[in-house]
Amino acid sequence: AYGFSTVTGREEKQARVNEVFHRVAERYDLMNDLMSGGLHRLWKGAMVSWLAPPHRAGWRFIDVAGGTGDVAFRIVEASRRSASGTVLDINASMLGVGAERAVKRGLQDNLVFVEGNAEKLALPDASFDAYTIAFGIRNVPRIDLALAEAYRVLKPGGRFLCLEFSEVDMPVLDKVYEAWSFKAIPRIGEVVARDRESYEYLVESIRRFPNQENFAAAIRAAGFERVTYRNLSGGIAAIHSGWKL
Ligand code: SAM
Repeated sequence: AYGFSTVTGREEKQARVNEVFHRVAERYDLMNDLMSGGLHRLWKGAMVSWLAPPHRAGWRFIDVAGGTGDVAFRIVEASRRSASGTVLDINASMLGVGAERAVKRGLQDNLVFVEGNAEKLALPDASFDAYTIAFGIRNVPRIDLALAEAYRVLKPGGRFLCLEFSEVDMPVLDKVYEAWSFKAIPRIGEVVARDRESYEYLVESIRRFPNQENFAAAIRAAGFERVTYRNLSGGIAAIHSGWKL
């Protein structure tokens, strides 16, 4: 249903994604907690720990598909408020929620919120020390373009980190997870957000995303070196890391 090998297919996929996130923006943070049982907080924490941003002013990162700012806030806090970041997202509704949250946290001087497409970043080459993307890349129609852009905007020596749903690698857990995602998540979407369809789409997009090894290969193909990954919660999610050397 969401094939995207043709131009119109891709445009349809992106339009669909945009509509989903426009509709869920206001409830996005609450829904994340409900659907992941709060696990997304631990996973984002694990990504930021692995990144280990330095406590040094002038260190710059970009958080792509940054939505309501969750990951960017954590990175700035972990840098003891010395890092500066760009939160980029294709959806103005998500960014609007993020910008408001940044002000509430007093982080508005560290962050800029920019509307843009991961497939084509309107940013100069070699601008950032780190590029992060959490639960974003599976929504992008052409993953290879997003990875090429990540490589381009990173400085030599820069770090790429991606947090995404992945392939569960534990016997019983995979069945539990399947039931949770195909039955519970659409139901929570229906009851809490009155939007079953959007959440069905989200579950489907997880199922279609490449597994750990295949995604690592795509990151290597974009030019990154020392590509590794860590599984989280039995592979429900994974963090991939690579370096532009
Ligand atoms: N990173 C945030 C987090 O972890 O809470 C938000 C993740 S949310 C599941 C996915 C985000 O990807 C949405 O905000 C959506 O607008 C954004 N997105 C989808 N397609 C995109 C694209 N082509 N370029 C940039 N952002 C995109």
